[in-house]
Amino acid sequence: MAFEELLNDPVIQKYLHELVGPTGMPVAAAPPDGEVTDEELAEELGLELNDVRRALFILYENDLASYRRLRDEDSGWLTYLWTFEYENVPEKLEEEMYHLLELLEERQEYETDNEFYLCPEESIRFDFGEAMEFNFSCPSCGADLESMSNDRLVEAMEERIAELRDELNVEPEAQA
Ligand SMILES: [Zn+2]
Repeated sequence: MAFEELLNDPVIQKYLHELVGPTGMPVAAAPPDGEVTDEELAEELGLELNDVRRALFILYENDLASYRRLRDEDSGWLTYLWTFEYENVPEKLEEEMYHLLELLEERQEYETDNEFYLCPEESIRFDFGEAMEFNFSCPSCGADLESMSNDRLVEAMEERIAELRDELNVEPEAQA
């Protein structure tokens, strides 16, 4: 897949944005074809060198960029030549989605298996164990805790889980 095509995908844009943040996004969104130095990128994009380096390093840590070092024989300065490895994006993204699916499934189980209580004054939520420990009164303001439904939350999680399973072609787990 060509870089431009990748970067038009809103899911990939969001993934890159979450990795490098808003300051790093111009770097992540403008992968050059060949090698480039951090100085060249900073100048081209009108960014602070440190922001460019930070974004490049995040991409490097996530296997989306690599570099080689060149030493200038006269000055002894090191130059870093960066290559964007965006052919790894789909695979990394899929890993992320699997990870997210796992987290959501764990969370959904916790939400389904527990009862929840709410401090009506401050909207602080407690699970049953915590509520019992505080004798069903809010440890912060003393108000009586009220039983609370999390059906809507669980429903929203189930929808997101179903979407992710669908995108990843994962069969729903058989209920034990
Ligand atoms: Zn309270």
